Amino acid sequence: MNQGRTHTWDINLGYHECPNCQYIIESRAPWIKGKKEWEKQITCPRCHHSFTLTKPLKGFSLFGTSKTEFDWS
Ligand SMILES: [Zn+2]
Repeated sequence: MNQGRTHTWDINLGYHECPNCQYIIESRAPWIKGKKEWEKQITCPRCHHSFTLTKPLKGFSLFGTSKTEFDWS
């Protein structure tokens, strides 16, 4: 088995619309595991508006497929 430890930072790449100016922000910030949700801190490079994105912990998949599962415990 090839357990190549190439980490998954590129998976964190996402595009998020700034709620303030609608600018599409490219973000490589990692998702941080909160108490109930994944959280991600975004700062808009255009208007410097900061906001937090959240995703429910349950059912969150890094790969969007059931092929690879993560055990975070
Ligand atoms: Zn903005």
